[in-house]
Amino acid sequence: MSFTPPPFWGAIKGFLADDEAAALAAAATRASALGPVLEIGSYCGKSTICLALAMGDSDSLLFALDHHRGSEEHQPGEFFHDPDLYDDGVAQMDSFREFRLNLERAGVSDRVVPIVTTSQLAARHWSTPLGMVFIDGGHSLDAALTDYRCWAGHLLRGGTLAIHDVYPDAASGGQAPYAVYRLALESGLFRETQRVNSLALLERL
Ligand code: MG
Repeated sequence: MSFTPPPFWGAIKGFLADDEAAALAAAATRASALGPVLEIGSYCGKSTICLALAMGDSDSLLFALDHHRGSEEHQPGEFFHDPDLYDDGVAQMDSFREFRLNLERAGVSDRVVPIVTTSQLAARHWSTPLGMVFIDGGHSLDAALTDYRCWAGHLLRGGTLAIHDVYPDAASGGQAPYAVYRLALESGLFRETQRVNSLALLERL
């Protein structure tokens, strides 16, 4: 990997492959020189830590947006449900505790601003231009399109739109992130710079 993962990297719950992490890190190193980075869908902090470490000691910030109540696929009875992250007291998913612990262990809390709410609410009064937006939130079409529409417009020219779980072949995975990827390219506002596994990197023209 092009960034040095913390010793407990392999134990962090999450769905980011090592080759994707390396590409994401390289993109964040470049993009964070342009402006702050926004991640949508932090879960337990695996990609958050990857991005934050890649930003190094630059002055830039990483906004880590997640309501931490789990996406559709994380709910009880769904394929990606993890009972360790279920809070019986409130009968809801809660990945925030695990997220915060992982960030503290990785020593990156000083450059990450957690935003614990929905994409729509966080975007309502947002006006900060962004160097990079990483879309890895809910994988329903509605959730993925909302994330794109809320945030892609805040990217600076030359900034990076990263989309995770892009599967052109429906047999390999859900199609919502791919739909967002297509929408971005067809808008004429982006060009693809790299594809690594299911991670797509686009440049804002
Ligand atoms: Mg993902």
